[in-house]
Amino acid sequence: MNRRHWLGAASAWAAAWPLVAPAHADAPASPPSPSPSPSPSPSPSPSPSADRLPFADPPRPARMRVSADRIVDITVCTRPFRAQGPRIEAQRLHGKTVIHHYGHGGAGWSLSWGSATLGALPLIRGTGERRIAVIGCGAIGLTTARVAQRAGLRVRIYCRERPPEVASTFATGLWSPESRVVAAEHATPAFNAMWERMARHSFRAWQDQLGLPGAPVEWRDGYVLSDLPFDQALPAGQGGHGGPAEPDYPDLLDLIPDLHPRSMPLNPAQHPFPVPHARRFTQMTFNIRPYQRLLMEDFFREGGEIVTRDFSDARELAGLPERTIVNCTGYGARALFGDERLIPVRGQIARLVPQPEVDYMVAWRGHNLMVVPRRDGLLVQAQGEHDFNNPDRGVDRAMSEAAVARLAALFA
Ligand SMILES: Cc1cc2nc3c(=O)[nH]c(=O)nc-3n(C[C@H](O)[C@H](O)[C@H](O)COP(=O)(O)OP(=O)(O)OC[C@H]3O[C@@H](n4cnc5c(N)ncnc54)[C@H](O)[C@@H]3O)c2cc1C
Repeated sequence: MNRRHWLGAASAWAAAWPLVAPAHADAPASPPSPSPSPSPSPSPSPSPSADRLPFADPPRPARMRVSADRIVDITVCTRPFRAQGPRIEAQRLHGKTVIHHYGHGGAGWSLSWGSATLGALPLIRGTGERRIAVIGCGAIGLTTARVAQRAGLRVRIYCRERPPEVASTFATGLWSPESRVVAAEHATPAFNAMWERMARHSFRAWQDQLGLPGAPVEWRDGYVLSDLPFDQALPAGQGGHGGPAEPDYPDLLDLIPDLHPRSMPLNPAQHPFPVPHARRFTQMTFNIRPYQRLLMEDFFREGGEIVTRDFSDARELAGLPERTIVNCTGYGARALFGDERLIPVRGQIARLVPQPEVDYMVAWRGHNLMVVPRRDGLLVQAQGEHDFNNPDRGVDRAMSEAAVARLAALFA
């Protein structure tokens, strides 16, 4: 079982290192000896690489400038977690067909395309309607709206908040399709199979958005640092789980081993950090703000409309002109549709002044620390002791300053 969520959504992928580097890992820890190349005939054969231009060394990681006075923002939002997994089903309610599409935990951005295309769209199509309403303008609502438009439907979004005010704005921005998306006890073979299809579909969709203006999607390298060997368990209490009530999670990443480059061990000469153990990993990241803008622009360009509306009771749906309504209200579904199974998992992130020259992530195992370089700042994330089932969206500045101080120790 997976107890890797010591840093919330940000960490699970970073922590998914193989404990022993497989024989076909992308590079060994020490430089390889040059492989013999075919000698050009008919000239006499000099030594194979004597005259060859050497490769440049990989650039050294730029120093992060870390101090509390460089914090430009601290945000808090809650992951909409359901132990049973996201709710994706149709229901007749107040004279409408309501298609529920919410509860994606710490994986909402990552799974958005697959969940909308393989989960919600078949249910929408099943109604035969050409005009639909979507409630919610977060990761799930916006992506569902785009998927419906691409299927030829007219879409109107109703929402209390739109970007950047929605909770989705305050996510880390990592490809983390397994993060708090289902509890282990509910990860049935049927769930796992659907999750795998969604993850694969999403992954494909994300690759199509590489290289676009504003860099909405990027692949980044990162360093997982550790005081202990990676195959040694952390002492009790250093796992940083979100509290004793937090369930176990299934090892869903095992279903998609082909979708992430393998991490590799580094020897001390291969990294600048003052820790005895380090691995380098590579992971997909999302620059959420430019990406939201892109989604919004595409939505409007294809005739989409957004209406600001705060529903205080599900009976208000009866007054909408659309007969098919997709419910993408995230954690809001708990109050609006009475879904007590939705559990808020609090997450706080501090942003340091952007440093474009910093292009790598850092996760410090056992020190409750994860850093992600985004275009809008260096994100410093730590997990609170009582984040699970915690709806508190108040900022705990001392917690972020403590995380920044831990990070500063790596650059002292
Ligand atoms: C700290 C943190 C880090 C995360 N990092 C990642 C990550 O790296 N990668 C990843 O994939 N996921 C991550 N997540 C998870 C991801 O952010 C969520 O799964 C996702 O944001 C959920 O999106 P949503 O559209 O369902 O909800 P929301 O973004 O909350 O959108 C809900 C929408 O519904 C509207 N709404 C709600 N109630 C009503 C109502 N009564 N009337 C009208 N409108 C209403 C809201 O105004 C809003 O427009 C992270 C989450 C947290 C907390």
